[in-house]
Amino acid sequence: AKDAGRNTCRLFDEAMHVEAQEMLRLRSQFLTALEQGRFVLHFQPQLRLGDGRVLGVEALVRWQDGDSLIPPAQFIPMAESSGLIVPLGEWVLHEACRQAMSWQSCYDSPVVVAVNLSAVQFKRGNLEQAVASALAGSGLAPQLLELELTETTLLHQTEAVLSTLRRLSQLGVRLAIDDFGTGYSSLAYLKRLAVNTLKIDQSFIRNLSGDPDDANIVCAIIEMAHKLQLQTLAEGVESAQIADLLRQMGCDQAQGYYYSRPLPIAQLHAYLRRQQAG
Ligand code: C2E
Ligand code: CA
Ligand code: CA
Ligand code: CA
Repeated sequence: AKDAGRNTCRLFDEAMHVEAQEMLRLRSQFLTALEQGRFVLHFQPQLRLGDGRVLGVEALVRWQDGDSLIPPAQFIPMAESSGLIVPLGEWVLHEACRQAMSWQSCYDSPVVVAVNLSAVQFKRGNLEQAVASALAGSGLAPQLLELELTETTLLHQTEAVLSTLRRLSQLGVRLAIDDFGTGYSSLAYLKRLAVNTLKIDQSFIRNLSGDPDDANIVCAIIEMAHKLQLQTLAEGVESAQIADLLRQMGCDQAQGYYYSRPLPIAQLHAYLRRQQAG
């Protein structure tokens, strides 16, 4: 039994070793990719349900590795645990603000850019400085930048996060809560934080037409949000049927494959011009 235990330990150590090596390899590939400009942003339109106007665009990062695009799920967790999300996040902020300037001329009204923030960026790295420098460097008006954070980010490290958020909203940027409904937060608390938008998580939207529980949850979120003067945006809208339901429920905005997948910048420009023409 003692031997078996020792063997298990050894196997476990080896597995850990392989994993650590894999991490190191990924980390060095990541840094090289960042230096060589091999990360790209794709942009997914956010539309007003009432009239189909594009109000915003969410920036979503991809890693371009040769001919393939590596999705964020495959590198964001490693970037967070290693701290590499700080330099990546700064690049995303700068690039998103720069691109947001490029598409304003494609549409007859201003289009906000939404950028995802990780909890790690609040803990490490000077987030306020990074945001201010991305705005100054690009010349983008602060009210055209929306920062998306999750309820989990608010839950932990509350005091530091709160003061950073206060300073960020003093810069004039907009705040949105991502994946809303999957974590814990009180709406009154969000109101105090000068949050503008609640992004209702895709998991409630997917079966909206078939699952009465989901429909009730979404209705309740929209109603409460509006009482607090918060905007609501439904994520993961994949059909006209779901879009119609959301419109009936009074949801303000929608985002999802039904309207558009996340697009490379050139295709986003074409999309905005088409939307405007139509
Ligand atoms: P998220 O912020 O919740 O982004 C929405 C995800 O849902 C995106 O996946 C988007 O492509 C996908 N999506 C949009 N519409 C639909 C739809 O109708 N149906 C379905 N099934 N999916 C839809 P993506 O681009 O793979 O990003 C995954 C996650 O990676 C994001 O979730 C976000 O948490 C993270 N992420 C992406 N870019 C960044 C970034 O620049 N910084 C940080 N910290 N995280 C990022
Ligand atoms: Ca928005
Ligand atoms: Ca998001
Ligand atoms: Ca989300």
